[in-house]
Amino acid sequence: MYLKSLEIQGFKSFADKIVLNFNSGLTSVVGPNGSGKSNIADAVRWVLGEQSAKTLRGSRMEDVIFSGTQHRKPVGFASVSLVIDNSDRTLPIDFSEVTITRRMYRSGESEYAINKTPCRLKDITELFMNTGVGREGYSIIGQGRIDEILSARSEERRQVFEEAAGITKYKARKREAERKLESTRQNLLRINDIIAELE
Ligand code: ATP
Repeated sequence: MYLKSLEIQGFKSFADKIVLNFNSGLTSVVGPNGSGKSNIADAVRWVLGEQSAKTLRGSRMEDVIFSGTQHRKPVGFASVSLVIDNSDRTLPIDFSEVTITRRMYRSGESEYAINKTPCRLKDITELFMNTGVGREGYSIIGQGRIDEILSARSEERRQVFEEAAGITKYKARKREAERKLESTRQNLLRINDIIAELE
């Protein structure tokens, strides 16, 4: 699995649609200060479902939409598509190429899609679980992240290892099953109360 290309439109400093193609192996992005290098990494985080404006170096999520310049009007939405080569089927989906898309309007609503089919953020999160790529994964190491990992409490550091060991997915499923179990338990209690009242 590797990142094949990234299509950005209306996101931060990229008003017009741009397509960045990557090959397998190492790619470096170079450019003058303020030219948008970090905005590319932000676009990758964002399309994978980042919900924190602070992590994306803004104060509100709307800050990711191109806000205009002296010569250019602001735009109404931001859209990022990430194309992944999945020939090795690392992602549990039967496609050799997987495109993840997120689009956000000024109203604040976000739309997500996998291979152009609308989906929930949860579907994207689950698709990338255990691969190290997701929003919480370790494939995007931002400035200061290494220090953060080294100085984190051991339980927090453990999450990084659990993602690498492929346990995260099962822990998430366990939590969901426990939630359903609890809600069923509550329903049962209510039914028993009703039965007791009727008897
Ligand atoms: P450095 O090398 O200094 O870290 P960089 O190449 O990583 O810089 P970025 O931080 O990616 O640069 O880009 C910063 C630029 O993006 C700034 O000029 C800022 O005005 C612009 N920018 C950020 N958000 C928006 C937005 N919503 N609309 C328009 N421009 C934006």
